[in-house]
Amino acid sequence: MSSVGPVPAGTEAWFEASKPWRGPMASNALVPCPDCGQLVSRLAEACPSCARPLRAPAPREGLFLRTMNQAVAATFWIPIFFLLVLLGTGVVAYLLGYFNPPR
Ligand SMILES: [Zn+2]
Repeated sequence: MSSVGPVPAGTEAWFEASKPWRGPMASNALVPCPDCGQLVSRLAEACPSCARPLRAPAPREGLFLRTMNQAVAATFWIPIFFLLVLLGTGVVAYLLGYFNPPR
């Protein structure tokens, strides 16, 4: 929108715009760029107006460790999940009388 120009940083308008938006669209809220005041999406990695990086790029080691943690968690929980399913099936079969001797 051409009517919405950049808000000068440090002014009252910038301060108002920098307040956290409380509403259902909070995740899509626009935040003013600290350098040029241009409203930028929270999800943007850099300001489209002055190219100021808004978020530090995630380190590769962090992503690697997170993936490893997920893999370890999956390896740990998948056997337990199948064990619980087997146990539940056994309990249900018992409750349904599958293990009772036929009369
Ligand atoms: Zn900017």
